[in-house]
Amino acid sequence: MLPFIAKNIDKKLESIYSKVLNGIRLSKEDGICLYETNDLIGLGKIADHVRRARHKNQAFYVYNQHLNYTNVCKNRCRFCAYAKDEGQAGAYAYTCEQIEQRLLDRIDEPVKELHIVGGLNESLDFQYFIDLLKTVKRIRPDAAIKAFTCVEIDYLSNLSGLSLDETIQQLKNAGLEMMPGGGAEVLNSRVHEALFPKKIGHERWLEIVRAVHKAGIKTNATMLYGHIETIEERVDHLMALRELQDETKGFSAFIPLAFHSENTQLSHLPPTTAMDDLKAVAAARLMLDNFDHIKAYWVMIGEKLAQVALSFGADDLDGTIIEEKITHTAGAKSAKGLTQDQMEEMIKAAGFEPVQRDSFYHPVN
Ligand code: SF4
Repeated sequence: MLPFIAKNIDKKLESIYSKVLNGIRLSKEDGICLYETNDLIGLGKIADHVRRARHKNQAFYVYNQHLNYTNVCKNRCRFCAYAKDEGQAGAYAYTCEQIEQRLLDRIDEPVKELHIVGGLNESLDFQYFIDLLKTVKRIRPDAAIKAFTCVEIDYLSNLSGLSLDETIQQLKNAGLEMMPGGGAEVLNSRVHEALFPKKIGHERWLEIVRAVHKAGIKTNATMLYGHIETIEERVDHLMALRELQDETKGFSAFIPLAFHSENTQLSHLPPTTAMDDLKAVAAARLMLDNFDHIKAYWVMIGEKLAQVALSFGADDLDGTIIEEKITHTAGAKSAKGLTQDQMEEMIKAAGFEPVQRDSFYHPVN
């Protein structure tokens, strides 16, 4: 007999809950059902059951700082509001001295992670990236460097003329410790062709992640949802990540990213709803049975819904961030950063115990 929480839930969710309780992996059809159900509360209860079995009442966050070294990008993906052409108003690329200054500006804060991503700027050479990593490590030796999407790694491999493995090794030697996992958007050829044809496709994305994990560097994984992708394509994306995780065990967290359309070529598309956002978190928690951490990225879904998402499968709210640029260029209405106190209050008010962590989920005192 199913426990009390299964009473009065969507009939289709009953069999999924039974599978979850018995440790049976969910199928593609189950994944589609998770997104299609209108029983949000039933879905949330199942996801919360799994979340609490792994993390009890704890909810994680990191004291981090974002550094977007350039917004010049040759790819110009249709969904991206951030990228600019060289010479266009607002286009920039930080020198290493400017990066150093941005770090020094906040040197009194207990930053534990630097999140560093940027566009594919053809005026920067490979040595720039080595110098950038070394600069950050010199100024912030105690903070982990989480940098570069697979798109940037592919680009840097071409730029350096080195093999993929050698490129990763050189970046690692210069200070790269973790990767944020973006750039896949949705692992699907149709979506790739329609929205980001110049960017690497899903086979190459998986190949790069595999190589990065082999080099001993953990990554996160993301999915950009709420644009032209279908529910089936979302589920395929989750299953591809789950399969790779079985093989490498190198993923640390999964982060569903709600699409923001303002200032993009898809500005006619409406924003995601709270239903979409909570389902994205819960479905990820239940499909990705081999991922420890599911993040509710408060920048994209807002602070209030991120609090609710902690009861729908999420165990991590990402970080304090300090100066988020990318999603705000696309119209995000959330704060650009939160203080540590605000982050902890948010978690406590949602009924959870805040745990400050480093990039590798070690608790920070
Ligand atoms: S999403 Fe990334 S690769 Fe695409 S245009 Fe924006 S910065 Fe460039």
